[in-house]
Amino acid sequence: MGVTYHRNDFVDDAAATISVRAKAFNYGLGCFGGVRGYWDEKQGELYVFRLADHVERLFESAHILGLVPTVSQDDVARILCELLRRNDAREDHYIRPLFFVDSDELSPTLTDVPTSLIIYCLPLGRYFKSESIDLCVSSWRRVADNAIPARAKPTGAYLNSALARAEAKRNGFDDAVVLTESGEVSEASAAHLFMVRRGELVSPPSTADNLEGITRRSILELAVAAPLNLKVVERRISRTELYVADEVFLSGTAAEVTPVASIDRRRIGTGKVGPATAAIAARFRDVARGGDPAYASWLTPVWGRETKRSVAAS
Ligand code: PMP
Repeated sequence: MGVTYHRNDFVDDAAATISVRAKAFNYGLGCFGGVRGYWDEKQGELYVFRLADHVERLFESAHILGLVPTVSQDDVARILCELLRRNDAREDHYIRPLFFVDSDELSPTLTDVPTSLIIYCLPLGRYFKSESIDLCVSSWRRVADNAIPARAKPTGAYLNSALARAEAKRNGFDDAVVLTESGEVSEASAAHLFMVRRGELVSPPSTADNLEGITRRSILELAVAAPLNLKVVERRISRTELYVADEVFLSGTAAEVTPVASIDRRRIGTGKVGPATAAIAARFRDVARGGDPAYASWLTPVWGRETKRSVAAS
């Protein structure tokens, strides 16, 4: 039996429940984050990747929805690390902090409502099990920022992700590329998209109705720096450009760096993992597991005595 943070307490998983009348359940009124902890066997340490950035984005999501948390960003970071310790987390973990409208009254309301916090965690290895994946372009369009804030992570927006993913799965694909209402590439169902073409690493900006991604930001930062030294461009991508890309990969907290073998049954490049994708995946893996001291500020050790200092610095 694991431990979950529920409202103001650490409780057994089974006790972390909400009412069938909860607005959060009935209308998807809330917002969440997705965070990873990487286990380093040699150090006997679990490193939470970019914890302060994840917590900041969670609070930005709440702010966009107009929710007012009663806890601070430091509180959430501290509770999240304590939760991992209480679950004796000594392998790779996924952590889900979630703010929700904590009211059982009937109407879908975001004003004058209490906002509560839940955090749970689970061991998680690879999200996509195969080395590379096959995508289709979804017939569902990505939810527009002016309909449901796409820059944020509102719980209700994930019906859009689930519809795109379900269609892809039913048609024999692993996941979907979702286009914006105006037909540009936005992202995958719950991961960002990168393409390598003519020597450049290209990714659509957040203004293409995609989440402000933390893995995406990390990859952009790592790609331009030594030793990768890649040319990076954030710009619009159209559907057919994907078909003629040399390499395509997805990025995300869950997805990490996942190579794409085909899109709409068109092989991407050679159909094998390309050299830029392989180099970026290796670099990301190394940095996330504490292999480069230059990026130590991205990592918060859960078990060490350093926890407080790293949260403040990251
Ligand atoms: N897009 C969506 C819609 C997502 O849910 C996620 C997962 N958080 C991502 C992209 C990847 O973003 P990040 O790297 O911050 O996890």
